[in-house]
Amino acid sequence: MGIATGAAGGLVWGALSPESQLFGRTLVAPARPDEFALTFDDGPNPKATPRLLEVLARANVKATFFLIGGFVKQCPGLVREIAAAGHLVGNHTMTHPWLAWQSESRIREELSGASAAIEDVLGTPVQFFRAPHGARRPAVLRIVGEMGMIPVQWNVICNDWSPIGVEGIMTRAKAGVEKNRIRGFGTNMVLHDGGHTGLGADRMDTVGATERLLEMYAEMKFVRVDAWVGGAA
Ligand SMILES: [Zn+2]
Repeated sequence: MGIATGAAGGLVWGALSPESQLFGRTLVAPARPDEFALTFDDGPNPKATPRLLEVLARANVKATFFLIGGFVKQCPGLVREIAAAGHLVGNHTMTHPWLAWQSESRIREELSGASAAIEDVLGTPVQFFRAPHGARRPAVLRIVGEMGMIPVQWNVICNDWSPIGVEGIMTRAKAGVEKNRIRGFGTNMVLHDGGHTGLGADRMDTVGATERLLEMYAEMKFVRVDAWVGGAA
C-alpha cells in the first residue's frame, strides 16, 4: 500500500482496529484509550459551524472537519475560519455521492474537485479523506492513496442526523467511548455540523452534544486525526 510508506511516514497501522482493514488500510484510532478525536462531517454550514467553533474555542480543543467541496465553494470565509482556529480540514468529496456505485473517473472527479476547492481557499494540500456514508472499496482507497491522502474511518457514530436530541446523541456517544476504553483504543467520533443535501441544516443538537462531551471528557486528550499519523506520541 502506497499510503503506508508515503510522505506521512510511519502510520500506526499496528494499532488500527482489525475490522477496518477489510477493504484496505484506513486510519481509525490507535491503542491510546485516553485520546479522543472529534470529527465533524458535511460542513461547512453557516447555521451550525460558527457556533461549533465557539464551543471548541472555549474548551481550547482542536477537531477535524471533513468538508463537502460544493459547500466550501459557497462558504470560503467559513472554511478559512475553521483552519485559522487550528482545526484540521479534510476532504469529504464534492457532492457526497455513494462512492461504492460510481465509476473510477467519477470518483477521481469527486475527490480532486473537493481537494482543489479546499486548496484554493486555504493554500495548503489536503491530506485526509473520509468517504461519504463510510462507503469504501478497493478502487476508492487506491485513488485516495494516489492523490496522497490518508483515508479516515471512525469508531463511534451517534446518529446525530436523526431527530434524537442531545440526549439521544449523548447516549450513543457515551456507549461508544466506553466500548473503546474497554478495548484499549482511542475514540474517533463522527458528528455532523452540516447536512449533505444542502447548506443550512439544523445541527444545534450536535453543537449542544459537543459542548456536553467536552465537559464530560475534559480529562481526555482531544486530538486532530493527524496526531495519529507519524508515530509521535
Ligand atoms: Zn457525510
